[in-house]
Formats: sequence, structure tokens, C-alpha cells
Amino acid sequence: MTRIIGVTSGKGGVGKTTTSVNLATVLASLGKSVIIVDANLSTPNVGLHLGMPLSKVTLHDVLEGSAFITETISIHPQTGVRVVPAGLSLDNILRTNYAKLEDAIVELLGYSDFIIVDCPAGLESGSRRVIDACDEAIIVTVPELPAVTDALKAKKVAEVSGTHVLGIVVNRVNGISSELSSHEIEQMIEAPIIVKIPEDINVHRAIATKYPVTIYAPKSRSSKEWKRLGHLIAGIEYIEEVPEETSSLKKMINRLLGKKSKR
Ligand code: ADP
Ligand code: MG
Repeated sequence: MTRIIGVTSGKGGVGKTTTSVNLATVLASLGKSVIIVDANLSTPNVGLHLGMPLSKVTLHDVLEGSAFITETISIHPQTGVRVVPAGLSLDNILRTNYAKLEDAIVELLGYSDFIIVDCPAGLESGSRRVIDACDEAIIVTVPELPAVTDALKAKKVAEVSGTHVLGIVVNRVNGISSELSSHEIEQMIEAPIIVKIPEDINVHRAIATKYPVTIYAPKSRSSKEWKRLGHLIAGIEYIEEVPEETSSLKKMINRLLGKKSKR
């Protein structure tokens, strides 16, 4: 059975695309077949995060009725994740009509274990139709009042559509006192937090190199949390890897104690 999971938010710029791309990468690394649909049709950037070449046929052509969604799929070579890209031209964007989106996504059923839908920010035009097309939703926010307030609206939009809200991903957590606490966020959105992803410079570096951070820096703090999310979604136990510094420190102590390394 194919699970269609929308990654949505109230505000833009909180980490939907970064979460979609890394969730898809982790699920693929767990042996799942995954398609990412770039349904953020006014500001599409899944292809940019993954360094995919520009596609001739995109989701915009599908929505205009001039292509089948299966014709738009290209494979990301490093992860095996399949991508349904959106068109980048302003002309494409201005002509966007979301009416056929749900039917197009339904065409993909049976082609993969997971369809990850990178949604437009919750209250933009068309966002309702995108979330309608999803069975489940993850709400992404940062731990600040305006973003959390808008995340609540995004959750309500999902609920009105009958889309099951899996929970919240709190992204860009610095752990400073001005941030809303987990308890406050859960109370305000009335949904559980699934993971908290730390602010991590490796995310910027990964985007610059056009690799998901879970591949670019798999042991980084943010990668660990995106891996945790992927395991939770897949229902597979997550065993955290020992951080490199700790393992080399352990090796040094073992050497000093004359113990043999097990690895
Ligand atoms: P959205 O899709 O919601 O608009 P993006 O996923 O494009 O948001 O993220 C916006 C920007 O935020 C990214 O380009 C990246 O620079 C930054 N970012 C996202 N997550 C993190 C993180 N955990 N640590 C540091 N920077 C991040
Ligand atoms: Mg985005």
C-alpha cells in the first residue's frame, strides 16, 4: 500500500523542502521506494535541493492536461528517490491550476511505498487541494510564536480535508530561552511533536552542494533527527550511531588501556 504523506506548514521558509528531501532520502536508505512530488507550485525547489537537471516535462504540464504524471518522473542517482518536479518558469507558475492535482497523485498509487508531497505553505492558494490529495500530514514549524500560530492553521486545514496529522516537526531548534518549549508548541497546535531538528550549519553546506544533509553529513546533529523521523514513519527502530568524536575518544581510551578495538 502506498502512503501519501504531505509535508506542510503555516509559514514558508521553515524547512518543508529540507524535511521532504531528507525524509525521502532516509526512507530510501531503509529499502523503501519513494517518490517526492514537488507540489509547492509557486516556489518549487525540490530539484534545487537535490541538484536535479531541469526537466522538460513537469507537474505543471500534468495540471494543464498535456502530460501524464508518470512521464515527469526522474530518478535521483545518489538516493534512488524518484522525483516529480514542478516547472520553474514564471509563466508556468502564473498558470498553475491545482484542480487536477489529486487525480494526478492518484495515478502514482502502487508505484512506490511512499509518496512524499512537498506542500505549499498552509494558507497559500491551492494548498487546500494539495493537502486534500494526502492521506497523512506532517506539520513543520520553527519554535517561534508567529510560525507556531500559523502551524495551527495549517493543521486545521489538514483536519478539514480529512488528512490524518501525524504530528509536528520542530525545525531549527537552538535551545535558547526565547524559543517556545515543546510543551507550549504541543499545547498551541494540539498535536504531538515527532522530532526536534537542531539548527545546523551542515544544512546550509548540504544545500550549497545540492545533496540532502543526511547524505552530505550523515552523522551531523540534524541528520540524526531526520533519520529518527524516517525510522518513525517507516515503523523501524532507530538505533542512534555513536558520534565520531565519542567513538574516536573511546578508541583512544581503549588504546591507552591496552584493549583491542572491536571494530
Ligand atoms: P520551506 O520549504 O518551508 O520554504 P526550506 O526547507 O526551503 O523551507 O528551508 C529554508 C531554509 O532554511 C533552507 O534553505 C536552509 O538554509 C534553512 N534550514 C532549514 N532547516 C535548517 C536547519 N535544521 N538548520 C539550519 N538551516 C536550516
Ligand atoms: Mg520549500
